[in-house]
Amino acid sequence: MTTAPETVAVSAECWCCGSTFPEADLLRLGQHPEVGICLGCAQHLYRRRTERLDRTHPSVAARARSLVRAARAEAVRRGWPDRAVVGPLLRWIDRHLP
Ligand SMILES: [Zn+2]
Repeated sequence: MTTAPETVAVSAECWCCGSTFPEADLLRLGQHPEVGICLGCAQHLYRRRTERLDRTHPSVAARARSLVRAARAEAVRRGWPDRAVVGPLLRWIDRHLP
């Protein structure tokens, strides 16, 4: 008697943003491997974590990161990341910022 081959999930949904990603592009939580987070949401969570730590542990570096966050928020508010020429440049810069 033969059995049907198991179906292997090649993509899964991010538990944060709800988008679908290949399994290789998801991070799994250690104690809850059923929870997958995409790399973009992981970056977002890391920034939220850093922002919270900066509020509780003030320093010169924390102040610099706060200025970067304020500049990022203002650029997004003005819609600059969606502009044709400056948008890709801003997104490239953002990938290298804390
Ligand atoms: Zn996500």
